[in-house]
Amino acid sequence: MSAGDQLFAYVLACGDPKIRSRILWELDQRLGPENHFWLPELGGAKDLIMPEKDRDRERLLRKMETAAKVHRFGLIILINHSDCGAYRLSGHTFTDPQEEERFHVEQLKKAAEVVREKFPRVAVERHYFLKAEQRMAW
Ligand SMILES: [Zn+2]
Repeated sequence: MSAGDQLFAYVLACGDPKIRSRILWELDQRLGPENHFWLPELGGAKDLIMPEKDRDRERLLRKMETAAKVHRFGLIILINHSDCGAYRLSGHTFTDPQEEERFHVEQLKKAAEVVREKFPRVAVERHYFLKAEQRMAW
């Protein structure tokens, strides 16, 4: 990227209202409020890896493709979070926060592979948000 380019990002994060305002604030600070698509999905990257139905993954990827046509993005930001209801509903509950974090490390690695295959020229970032602490762990 040259110095004058503004980085535009596609953000894939959960729709949990208890994570939204802090994450949006961080994105706005970093990218500027008009430089990212914020299209919440329950479970964040979950539908890319373990969708309830295969068509859920297809729908999400189609939505990302459409977004790319509306405004080309150079970065995809994948954000999963602790204590996520969508994962809980699919039977993934955790008593150990470190175990939960390791689980999301693996989830996000796989999700990054899926989006890299679809958008090979776009950079991909992975983040994990701690809901109770209201901060990004990484
Ligand atoms: Zn969630």
